[in-house]
Amino acid sequence: MSANKQIECPSCALYSDREELVCPYCGYEFPELSTSRKWVAWLMAFLMIWPLSKLIDLLF
Ligand SMILES: [Zn+2]
Repeated sequence: MSANKQIECPSCALYSDREELVCPYCGYEFPELSTSRKWVAWLMAFLMIWPLSKLIDLLF
């Protein structure tokens, strides 16, 4: 009933909040969530590089 927002830690088998990136009990980093975090990091990098490449186009 209320388990859909919880994630089971593969390291200590305890349930924690789905929004947690790291298990609050043992410190295990959930791979599924850290992958989405990497995507956000890539997106941020892209958004920073994109206007920079436009600036280079204007200069050359
Ligand atoms: Zn854990």
